[in-house]
Amino acid sequence: MTMSILIDTTVCTACRACQVACKQWHNLPAEETTNRGGFQNPENLSFSTYKLVRMNEKQIDGKLQWLFFPDQCRQCVDPPCMETAYDEEAIYQDSMTGAVIYTRQTKRLDAEEINYSCPYDIPRKGPDSVLAKCDFCNDRIHNGLEPACVKVCPTGAMRFGTRKKILADAAARLEKVKKKYPEAALLDPEATNVIYLVAFDPALYAKNAVAATRQRGISRLVALRRMMAPVTRMMRI
Ligand code: SF4
Ligand code: SF4
Repeated sequence: MTMSILIDTTVCTACRACQVACKQWHNLPAEETTNRGGFQNPENLSFSTYKLVRMNEKQIDGKLQWLFFPDQCRQCVDPPCMETAYDEEAIYQDSMTGAVIYTRQTKRLDAEEINYSCPYDIPRKGPDSVLAKCDFCNDRIHNGLEPACVKVCPTGAMRFGTRKKILADAAARLEKVKKKYPEAALLDPEATNVIYLVAFDPALYAKNAVAATRQRGISRLVALRRMMAPVTRMMRI
């Protein structure tokens, strides 16, 4: 049984403990940032920021709403990035946990193509051409621990468990939240193992809160690479 996370944005306070815990666990450096007149810090995901709390101030029905969205890799059930790479030494899925893992071999992939294949705009290329993103804290999970971000969340906005349990929790929580926010929804729950619950239109939270449509289907290039994969693999040996 694969594992999942529910991120209930209706109880997220944007404290950013999850963002910091992710950096701590992965030993990632802080980034120099500038004041852009808002609370967003840093501005976007990067090679050294796998998790980012996106902050939006929106006026909805004449009221100011703070919309927070702790963005990260969704650990897709059938990951388009993995399908595009077609190179299990670079990107593979842990069948026990569902984690989608990027290795240092991602440096031989076409970074632009991998990024384009991701419906949530997640992977980022480092200075050494290696691609990086959230790894679900797969090492922690294998040692019986929750992902670091879930562990530190002080409001209970993040829950971790088997996919079956998280889907049930998400459905129950949605039913409750809908009483106050009729537009509330779960984002792509069938396709992802990191499932968000939002109170309003997902587009108000993040550009890629739900899967972009551009990646549906595969390009000719990807189809060709898949056909050639056995030959390519033999050439690497
Ligand atoms: S969210 Fe993007 S990077 Fe993460 S598994 Fe899905 S396609 Fe890959
Ligand atoms: S730790 Fe929890 S409450 Fe704080 S920003 Fe992350 S998800 Fe939101």
